[in-house]
Amino acid sequence: MKIVVLGAGVVGTAAAYYLARDGHAVTVVDRQSQAASETSWGNAGLVSPGDSTAWASPAALATFIKSLYKPDMGIKVRFTLDPHFITWSLRFLTQCTQGRADANTAVKLRLAFHSRTCINALQDETGIGYDDRRKGIVYFYRSAQSLEAGAKHMQYIADRGLKIEVVDRERLVELEPGLAAVKHQLAGGVYSPMDQTGDSCLFSRRLVEWCGANLGVTYRFDTTIEGLDIEANRVQGVRTDKGVIACDAVVLAMGAESALLARKIGVSLPIYPVKGYSATIPIDEDKGPTMGGVDEDRLIAYSRLGNRLRLASTAEFAGYDRTYKASDFASLFKTAHDLFPGVVDESKAERWAGLRPMMPGSVPVHGKARYDNLYLDAGHGHVGWTMACGSGQFLSDLVAGRKPQIDPAGLVYQ
Ligand SMILES: Cc1cc2nc3c(=O)[nH]c(=O)nc-3n(C[C@H](O)[C@H](O)[C@H](O)COP(=O)(O)OP(=O)(O)OC[C@H]3O[C@@H](n4cnc5c(N)ncnc54)[C@H](O)[C@@H]3O)c2cc1C
Repeated sequence: MKIVVLGAGVVGTAAAYYLARDGHAVTVVDRQSQAASETSWGNAGLVSPGDSTAWASPAALATFIKSLYKPDMGIKVRFTLDPHFITWSLRFLTQCTQGRADANTAVKLRLAFHSRTCINALQDETGIGYDDRRKGIVYFYRSAQSLEAGAKHMQYIADRGLKIEVVDRERLVELEPGLAAVKHQLAGGVYSPMDQTGDSCLFSRRLVEWCGANLGVTYRFDTTIEGLDIEANRVQGVRTDKGVIACDAVVLAMGAESALLARKIGVSLPIYPVKGYSATIPIDEDKGPTMGGVDEDRLIAYSRLGNRLRLASTAEFAGYDRTYKASDFASLFKTAHDLFPGVVDESKAERWAGLRPMMPGSVPVHGKARYDNLYLDAGHGHVGWTMACGSGQFLSDLVAGRKPQIDPAGLVYQ
């Protein structure tokens, strides 16, 4: 089949790889001049089943209320009368019961575990490097109370197969010597050895090169998708600013923008953008952290990407606005200096903002939607880098009509 993948973020580039391996003639279309130039450019770099917890939960409501009087908490809402935001928020609220939170987390975890297997197999096959590390991630806490709550919370995931070690501050610093300077500010943490880190932009761009050379995938960059031509309940072509691309099937993987295109063709896709910020700073080889980490009390995540440190934070509801200003990074740099004193030179930092494509329950959608040959691979939210390869592999099973390698419950479009 001639399949057109809409979007060359990490989700679209991964899907193209699996579809092309199945023998399809794949074309990937993106408005940017290179892959992963939008949300997949600057995320925190965590490939982390350990971070599979759904955002919508009873605790999310408490965190939101706390954020109103603690502005450095990193959760910000610009109130708007946008009906899509209001509808999304109401749907989010329906997912905030403990039952829904547990169910959504379990589905995400299933996909994240599968994705971990897939990304490592993909790397074995292609040999691509992406400043990746397989050393695990430490989730650490500043008070005994938050450590206890965090460890209890991670136990739900541990009961479903994630290896974890709850550690005191001595063991934490033994595992991650990069945190030695703040040892006495930390109560301890949860070490998740199955988690990994890497640069999703580097991954996507190297995969593009590899798939172009080895699987014959065609990429059409600098091409804006304007709509889909639909006839007889099938997508016949993809309308772009450079003309129409004929197709036998289409995969919608346009990140936060997926909802906008879906709306044009009568497909309801409740994805809303949730903005975040990151800073990438060159650091000396022998300084800084040796693995990924999350400062759970300040909601700041980081990765070591080769000789760069990437820190990311903030969940902000600001529509599709991708702009940023110096003050957006204030708490992020404060924490960077606190955790790694003398390591971070702000003047060398590359600042960035991106939009997480969030579903109300944080679970991405896959598979056929409304039309006979329209497939979705979208809504990966805060863990799209973690789940991209698993999603692409799963989608290729759905397109082929094969029995999926993982249980599809909760992962397909209803
Ligand atoms: C601050 C922050 C930190 C994060 N940290 C992590 C993390 O540590 N681990 C993790 O797993 N995930 C993380 N994420 C989430 C992750 O980055 C996203 O889920 C993932 O990048 C989404 O990938 P995507 O391919 O769906 O979207 P995108 O990367 O946005 O790709 C969509 C593509 O579609 C293209 N496009 C859109 N509209 C059009 C159009 N009309 N015409 C043509 N092309 C179009 C865009 O150019 C873009 O290339 C983080 C996100 C943020 C913001």
